[in-house]
Amino acid sequence: MAYNDANVFAQILRGDAPAFKVYENDFALAFMDIMPQVDGHTLVIPKYTAENLHDVAPEILGETMKVVQLVSGAVKSAFDAPGIMIAQLNGAAAGQTVFHLHFHIMPRFDGLDFKLHAREVEDGEKLAGFSERIRAKLP
Ligand code: 5GP
Repeated sequence: MAYNDANVFAQILRGDAPAFKVYENDFALAFMDIMPQVDGHTLVIPKYTAENLHDVAPEILGETMKVVQLVSGAVKSAFDAPGIMIAQLNGAAAGQTVFHLHFHIMPRFDGLDFKLHAREVEDGEKLAGFSERIRAKLP
């Protein structure tokens, strides 16, 4: 499938849709997931048109993963999380719903306190507070 720049993450990159941003550099952007599975659920996307892992240039993937690592550390620290789960879905059959490559960063605690994927929109003030908390832990 050809990349379709009407997807919501492309809109966020263009500034056409809002996002609670956590971090950005020349290569990638991190922001809060609007329908989080757990508090602190953060997304990292490359600032390049790639639908999934299989069609991103390796150099861009590398730069994006550096941002995943950086932001993951900040999320872990901000939520005092003993575990962090990184998820990345490729293709509708795998559950991908937004067709711009992205990595999910999710704090995990013991037990199964984990909501279903992309179901309920979170309160904006709560997301704004979480994004600030994570930003405060970035170098
Ligand atoms: P996927 O299913 O493609 O792996 O993940 C897409 C993610 O994007 C889901 O976790 C969903 O909650 C999130 N999402 C969908 N629409 C928006 C949006 O408009 N803004 C933000 N920040 N996240 C979104």
